[in-house]
Amino acid sequence: MRIPLSAVDLGGNEATYVADAVATRWISGTGEYLRRFEQALARHTSREHVIAVNSGTSALELALLALGVQPGDEVIVPALTFVAPAAAVAALGAIPVLCDVTERDWTINPEVAERLITPRTKALIAVDVLGHLCDFDALQALGVPLIEDAAEAHGAQYAGQPAGSFGTISTFSFHGNKTITTGEGGSVGCDSAELATAVRTLANHAMIRERPYWHERVGRSYKMTNVTAAIGAAQCERWEELIAARKRVARRYDTLLESTAAVPQPTSGQSTAVCWLYTLVLPRRDEVLARVRDAGIDARAIWPALSQLPLYRGGLRGPCPVAEDVARTAAWLPTWAFMPEGVLTEVADAVTSALNETDA
Ligand SMILES: *Cc1c(COP(=O)(O)O)cnc(C)c1O
Repeated sequence: MRIPLSAVDLGGNEATYVADAVATRWISGTGEYLRRFEQALARHTSREHVIAVNSGTSALELALLALGVQPGDEVIVPALTFVAPAAAVAALGAIPVLCDVTERDWTINPEVAERLITPRTKALIAVDVLGHLCDFDALQALGVPLIEDAAEAHGAQYAGQPAGSFGTISTFSFHGNKTITTGEGGSVGCDSAELATAVRTLANHAMIRERPYWHERVGRSYKMTNVTAAIGAAQCERWEELIAARKRVARRYDTLLESTAAVPQPTSGQSTAVCWLYTLVLPRRDEVLARVRDAGIDARAIWPALSQLPLYRGGLRGPCPVAEDVARTAAWLPTWAFMPEGVLTEVADAVTSALNETDA
C-alpha cells in the first residue's frame, strides 16, 4: 500500500534517549526511563500509581488478576472492540460476557450491562472505543469493579477528566499504531498503593521482596524494558502536540468529506474524543473500500463484533445488534499525527470517487 493505515512519529528525543539507555546498559525491566515514563503517565492520567508493562493486553490481564478474577468468573466486555479485553479475560479461564454498545457513541451500553450482572460478575472492562470515553457516571453506578481500557484514547476526556483516570484500574496500550507509542507496550494505572504493589509484583514473577525466590502466586513476566520506556518518555514530552495533531487530522477529514454520504463516528456531548483512527460509516462499505484500496490506500473495515467470532460466542447472553451493525458498515481511513495535506486530500478524494462510482 502506498498510503499506510498509520505511521509512527519519532521526531522528538526518542533516538537520543534509546541511545542513552543502551549506553548506560540499563536495558532490562528497571531504570531511569521507566521511572520517568511512569511518572509522566501518572501526571497525564491523574493517577497515583502507574506501572509500565510489555503490552496493553498484559496490562488488562494484570488488572484482572489484581482484582482477583478467577477461572469461571464472568467479566463484562463490550462487543465492539479490538479483541484484547476478551482475550485477557479468557486467558485467565474467566468468561468474557459480551455487552452491546450504544448507538449514541458506540461505547459499552450501561443499561444492557446492568442486565448482564450475575453473582459471578467480577468486573466490567469499559473500552474507550476509538478515542471516545464511556459513560462513566452510569457505569460507576452499576457497583461492579471497573477497568477502563483507554488503549485508544490517550488525551481524550470525560466530564473534564482524562482518559485513564476512570475505574478502579485503567490500562493503556502503546502499540505502534496508538496515539502515544513505544512500539509495543502497555501500562496499568490505579490510585491504591495495595493494587499497585499487586500489579508490580505479578508482572515480575510474583517475586516478593521479603522472601526472594519464594512464590505464593503464579506470576507473569510482563515488565517493560528501560529501552522501550526511553521511547515512551520522549513521546510523553510531546503528549499535547501528538494529540492535537490527530485532532487536526480528524477535523480535516470531517471537512473534506462533509458533502458525501459518509457519516463520521457519532460522539456524545460528555466526552471530548481524540481521534485514534478516523472512523466513518460508509454506504456500500465493502465495495467502496475495495476501490479505495485498489488506489493503494490502506483504508480498512472495522473489527467484526466479538459476538460474531465463534471463539467468544460462549459469552453471549443476548443479541448485540448495534455492535454488529457498526461492524458491517464502519471503516477506518489512514490516520497519523502529521499527515501531509496532500495525503489527506488524496484519501478523501478516493473515498468521494468510490462513493460516487458505486452509487448506481
Ligand atoms: C490496542 C489495544 C489493546 C492492546 O494491544 P497490545 O497490542 O496488547 O498493546 C487493548 N485494548 C484495546 C481496545 C486496543 O485497541
